[in-house]
Amino acid sequence: MIAETLNIKIQKTTHSRLAETDFSDLHFGKTFADHMFQMDYEDEQWKNAKIIPYEKLQMSPSLAVIHYGQSIFEGMKAYKNEKGEIFLFRPLENFERFNRSAKRMCMPEVSEEIFMESIRQLVLLDKEWIPTAAGCSLYIRPVMFASDEFLGVRPSDTYKFMVITSPSAAYYSQPIKVLVESKFARAFEGGTGYVKASGNYGRSLYPSKIAHEKGYQQLIWTDAFEHKYIEESGTMNVIFQVGDKLITPPVSNTILPGVTRDSVLTLARDMGVTVEERKISITELVEAHRKGQLLDAFGTGTAATIAPIELIGFEGEDYMLPPVSERKLSTKIHAQLEAIRFGKAADAHGWAMKIN
Ligand SMILES: *Cc1c(COP(=O)(O)O)cnc(C)c1O
Repeated sequence: MIAETLNIKIQKTTHSRLAETDFSDLHFGKTFADHMFQMDYEDEQWKNAKIIPYEKLQMSPSLAVIHYGQSIFEGMKAYKNEKGEIFLFRPLENFERFNRSAKRMCMPEVSEEIFMESIRQLVLLDKEWIPTAAGCSLYIRPVMFASDEFLGVRPSDTYKFMVITSPSAAYYSQPIKVLVESKFARAFEGGTGYVKASGNYGRSLYPSKIAHEKGYQQLIWTDAFEHKYIEESGTMNVIFQVGDKLITPPVSNTILPGVTRDSVLTLARDMGVTVEERKISITELVEAHRKGQLLDAFGTGTAATIAPIELIGFEGEDYMLPPVSERKLSTKIHAQLEAIRFGKAADAHGWAMKIN
């Protein structure tokens, strides 16, 4: 394909909200930087690339996406170190995943240039919005949705691709209590579990709410067919340490291939740890726990990196995991991953992409 040159029109804000933003009290996804990127798909091409002040959208009540959910997104972060160097972490993985999501949802793909340049220019324009306190970063949310004003069920002819950013604090994670879900399913064979399609998240809320009411923060999803095999934890991949080994379900039709998951497994292998990507039944975990071999369980994802699991609820029983202070392996991997993201550690795999 011929590389097009992306000409982004930039309209800067005349009243930055930076000064009135309290960076010592950031919550996830609540505060947004001054600008956003927007591009339109019409007549079978992407056009009108622009960065404008963050503002509300105007839309028709007949907008296709709000009726039939043709919508996809990504989640990634920009990191700034003391030297003012700004990094993205493995952004091409997000780019490729975004296009896999687009394909599955019958939406147009974006070029690498559109994806990368929109993010790079937006992040650089709002670079003062990247928090610098330990563990903090600028969360980046690319999103695409169907924008036809039409109630027929068919792929939209027009779409919007947007990128917004949100300064976010270190995801302070108390270990979480998770409940094994044995009735509802997040994803199923032939479905959309392997992509970041918006509907996947809407349908997960009701079962999650029931778990909340029982005192658990998150679910462990199991396969839709038998509810016997582990899939993911909430919106994170899930990894277990049994003895000296790390085990995790293989990516599949129903499991989202997380960038954090892959990074954690790769660093573990680099350290000489045995990693098994295979089906894991609940029975196997319960058995490992009974033998005292279930040493660690954690979710992985861009938002939290590694979210330690405190206990796993299953059939009325809570299976406690060792205190986080004893989880040497995941703690070490977590620290190394953070150091690479901020350009502070040897980056053997070339994961940190400096953008300034
Ligand atoms: C985004 C996501 C993950 C984690 O992916 P990362 O690339 O590590 O952020 C895992 N599971 C689901 C369902 C997700 O949506």
